[in-house]
Amino acid sequence: MGELYPQVESALWFDNFFELVICVLLSAQTTDAAVNKVTPELFRRWPDAPSLAAADPDEVGEVIRSIGFWRAKAAHAVESAQMIVADFGGEVPATMEELTKLPGVGRKTANIVLNKAYNIVDGIAVDTHVFRISRRLRFSDAPTPLACEQDLLALLPKELWGPVNEQWIHFGRDICTARAPKCGGCPLADLCPSCGSAEGNPGRRRR
Ligand code: SF4
Repeated sequence: MGELYPQVESALWFDNFFELVICVLLSAQTTDAAVNKVTPELFRRWPDAPSLAAADPDEVGEVIRSIGFWRAKAAHAVESAQMIVADFGGEVPATMEELTKLPGVGRKTANIVLNKAYNIVDGIAVDTHVFRISRRLRFSDAPTPLACEQDLLALLPKELWGPVNEQWIHFGRDICTARAPKCGGCPLADLCPSCGSAEGNPGRRRR
């Protein structure tokens, strides 16, 4: 995968660690492009943790309502900003334990923030693409992203953990797509147990 995507950049737009946390929090089950449409106005109105901490979640919700789960995400963004201000001196925390205390921030979000903000690799961010590809390649048959992450951590050498998320996201968008994966042109076709299956999901019948 590293040869296929030697240099991958996040598609999310952010200028600092605070914006990064909020962007990743908003990106759950939503495309990065959709997040990028709402964050310029969000960060224009609430440019830092103190201002967002004081915001009315309903007003924040109005700004981000074009993305999925906007109401819960608005509440989590405001609550996370409040915790960053109250408990972490206004700084985005730099440990998995502290980051996952922020409302709406699970291991996936925390892994991305640690990696991008602090260059710390403490796990693998398993999003929908990483989860799907892991199952198709039979790297994991775990039923949840959290359990899938543990399988990947056991399987892959640590030096590969950092780039997995963004490399596999690109691979999942370009080739191993959720529907009708492009197995015919896939460089992993010879190795992939799901090659040629219509859905590519383990446990499903070929059609
Ligand atoms: S062969 Fe098909 S299912 Fe397997 S990794 Fe490639 S695109 Fe995905």
